[in-house]
Amino acid sequence: MRERTIDLHTHTNISDGSDSPADLVEKARSAGLSAVALTDHDTVGGLPEAMEAGRKFGVDVVPGVELAVQGVDGEEEFHILGLYVPQGDKAVDGLLREARDNRDTRNRLTIEKLRGLGLDVTLDDVNEAIRTISPKGMSIGRPHLAYMLFRKGYADSIRQAFEIYLGYGRVGYVPRKLVTPKVGISTMAGAGVTVGFAHPCLRKVIPADRLDDMVSDFKSYGLTAIEAYHSSYDEEDVRLCLTLAARHNLLLTGGSDYHGNGKPGVSLGAGKGNLHIPMRLLDELKDARKKAGLWI
Ligand code: AMP
Ligand code: MN
Ligand code: MN
Ligand code: MN
Repeated sequence: MRERTIDLHTHTNISDGSDSPADLVEKARSAGLSAVALTDHDTVGGLPEAMEAGRKFGVDVVPGVELAVQGVDGEEEFHILGLYVPQGDKAVDGLLREARDNRDTRNRLTIEKLRGLGLDVTLDDVNEAIRTISPKGMSIGRPHLAYMLFRKGYADSIRQAFEIYLGYGRVGYVPRKLVTPKVGISTMAGAGVTVGFAHPCLRKVIPADRLDDMVSDFKSYGLTAIEAYHSSYDEEDVRLCLTLAARHNLLLTGGSDYHGNGKPGVSLGAGKGNLHIPMRLLDELKDARKKAGLWI
């Protein structure tokens, strides 16, 4: 029998992906996945619909979230993945609400900055973009602004809108307020969430020796896993993540970071074509949670 595969990192149109949560789960079943974690940015708003679709389509849906935390030494930010996020937890909901409020502030400031550059853009234009691509959107960010810039003719593509205006350090870039890694990780871990370090090797921006120190710090705040498989990784990245996990006694997660049309070329489960994340990883996460007396 073919090995069962999963995807523990995905986005829907509740944040900056393009599929609805139910469509995402249906596509996971069509792709032959046994489990999928929905990990929208800064919101758990898509989880009830995804969980219901999971029951309907026979897919194990892991309720998750992706949260950005402060970078250091000029890095923009780091991302952490929460898996098994409880519904209605005051501390976690507060953390995510604050993150979304900080997004709204950044979106407003970005429009002001773009207007200062002479662009004829308004918050109404942003709202129009949200209605088009994320009608139930709860976590609005730069992809929505990028779509708006594209629609208004200021960029030939979403990618180009990031390259010219919205990317880190570009002329229309406005930083958003983020919590420290300590606050983000410890708040989630304190609520019984399995916390993983998302794509630590992304674009190889963090040198290996510094990654080792960071993982050690993050573990002291409650980190229990590391994303060892990701669409962006080459073999060297995977090896480094596996080494870090072994050295720090961390569990493994893996996912495509699927965004639907929001990230062309990345498929659910398969990533850029050669991603195979075995069910064994999720079984091990579940075993660890059971041993720690946590729900699954
Ligand atoms: P935000 O969460 O609002 O800071 O926006 C970051 C999101 O924009 C990421 O999660 C990606 O989905 C997307 N993104 C980042 N860089 C690019 C890029 N160069 N081209 C297209 N999308 C991007
Ligand atoms: Mn995204
Ligand atoms: Mn990320
Ligand atoms: Mn992601």
